[in-house]
Amino acid sequence: MPDNKQILVTRSSMPPLDEYVAEIAPLWESHWLTNMGEKHRELERELESYLGVDDIALFVNGHSALECVLEAMQLKGKVITTPYSFASTTHAIVRKGLTPVFADIKPDDYTIDPSSIESLIDEDTCAIVPVHVYGNLCDVEAIQDIADRHHLKVVYDAAHAFGVRLNGASSATFGDAAMFSFHATKVFNTIEGGAVCFREPGFRTKLNQWKNFGITGEETVEYVGGNAKMNEFCAAMGICNLRHLDDEIAKRKMVAERYWERLDGARGVRTCLPKEGVTPNYAYMPVVFEDEFGSTRDAVFDALAEQDIHARKYFYPLISDYGCYAGRFDSSATPVAKHVAARVLTLPMYADLAVEDVDRICDIVLSQASE
Ligand SMILES: *Cc1c(COP(=O)(O)O)cnc(C)c1O
Repeated sequence: MPDNKQILVTRSSMPPLDEYVAEIAPLWESHWLTNMGEKHRELERELESYLGVDDIALFVNGHSALECVLEAMQLKGKVITTPYSFASTTHAIVRKGLTPVFADIKPDDYTIDPSSIESLIDEDTCAIVPVHVYGNLCDVEAIQDIADRHHLKVVYDAAHAFGVRLNGASSATFGDAAMFSFHATKVFNTIEGGAVCFREPGFRTKLNQWKNFGITGEETVEYVGGNAKMNEFCAAMGICNLRHLDDEIAKRKMVAERYWERLDGARGVRTCLPKEGVTPNYAYMPVVFEDEFGSTRDAVFDALAEQDIHARKYFYPLISDYGCYAGRFDSSATPVAKHVAARVLTLPMYADLAVEDVDRICDIVLSQASE
């Protein structure tokens, strides 16, 4: 008998319903639904403590948070970034009138390769926007060193790296700013949501003004800002989910370790193990099928789909190959990114994924290898 249970690539974490209802009940007293209400302020305080930072600004989603940082820094010119990411990273840069310049990635952890950054810098370069892709931390020291020497801002897309630490230092503390996404599919979610952590102490006020139409006082509007505030219902969801987060990550760890046990060392299969000194969050399970595997990434994807198991070709295509950017970039200039994008598959990964299901997924994956 085939087991026909559908497995998607991810499954959102949710608190017990009664816990959420208790959390939102006071809103029926206050009638204060958004605009930095009580839940919003409480979630900010709890996240500051969880992430080990003095300051955080919450947003309606991660993408708006990233756009808002670029806006509030009043950047102009070129921004060096990675083509190996979700659409949001480059779209934010382009939508803010900046010009993305793509550096290549490292073959071991798929983050931006510092050695490919420097030759791309010219007098128009204003910033670097690296991505802690899959929760793998970028080479933060080398990137900061380059930025310092060339007086560039560093804004991390840390959408995947909530809670990740390097020798105890929170991923929220690297660069001039770090953006987190709290989208339903992320390790920590507020349904939709996002946040920015930053180095400059006064930056919170600026971000809060930019995310609220540029309003700076009762009768003063000083920036052409947008609207990107997190509402009270999303903040309440965050407060509940944060209580369960350490358990969720512990469960993800067991899932990840089972995958690695089964797949690591198989011929032509490359997994991504946490590096020395890193406290991971087990956000994703990327697997790269090299040519020695004897079968393609697409064949593995199809074999899983036949059993109603839905992996994702994440990140394929490269952003530089998107239709909306046709004719603007040459993805062959980032050969490592191109190689990985053509061979990567992210396997189902979430806290409640059963070990038996991981085994079933691994059996199907390994059955595709040539003898
Ligand atoms: C999810 C994600 C974003 C955008 O976050 P939203 O909260 O969905 O707007 C940005 N960058 C990366 C790498 C992401 O995965």
